[in-house]
Amino acid sequence: MQTVSRPQLVLVGDGGTGKTTFVKRHLTGEFEKKYVATLGVEVHPLVFHTNRGAIKYNVWDTAGQEKFGGLRDGYYIQAQCAIIMFDVTSRVTYKNVPNWHRDLVRVCENIPIVLCGNKVDIKDTYEEFNNMQKHNMNYYDISAKSNYNFEKPFLWLARKLIGDPNLEFVEMPALAPPEIAMDPSLAAQYEHDLKVASETALPDEDDDL
Ligand code: GDP
Ligand code: MG
Repeated sequence: MQTVSRPQLVLVGDGGTGKTTFVKRHLTGEFEKKYVATLGVEVHPLVFHTNRGAIKYNVWDTAGQEKFGGLRDGYYIQAQCAIIMFDVTSRVTYKNVPNWHRDLVRVCENIPIVLCGNKVDIKDTYEEFNNMQKHNMNYYDISAKSNYNFEKPFLWLARKLIGDPNLEFVEMPALAPPEIAMDPSLAAQYEHDLKVASETALPDEDDDL
């Protein structure tokens, strides 16, 4: 199948939120990853098959530099899309999302960005998380360890990048087997909460984070 797009995707967010765990789920990407020593990043080529051809994301993952503050401009400069990750069990990682967003848009003004709250397999998320407004940005609950919603951020970004809101994935990539099972009742609860949040979204807040 023809490759219709090869976007560079940067993965940002606090250390410990699960970025590396997430990107390693995609087996061929993990197998074919390349280490770029000058930047201290691993680039994972993640292929997804869509009804319009293949899209191959080059996903940039740090070697942990984000634990010591912000990332260098060289990390952002080629980005064509981004995932910002936080940990739904760690309030501070959510509080830092606007900082990651600011650093990103300072270098890449107008790229599609998805926010992912990881580790939703864990039941005790902090209280504010359950009530927070998740609708100000394109948001997905994910659980890297259970593969829950793994493809969702990539599908949303593919639709934006290719400019087709009806684009679909025609087959799922091979993923590492789940390390933990996502509790179906918890998943149903999150889906319900997200639906309620999106229905109560205020239109003039769409540009805020
Ligand atoms: P990074 O610093 O953002 O790259 O985070 P890592 O991928 O190194 O993960 C940090 C820790 O979170 C590790 O102990 C992972 O096992 C754990 N972790 C990552 N994803 C998940 C998840 O979906 N659920 C749970 N329960 N733990 C996770
Ligand atoms: Mg990491």
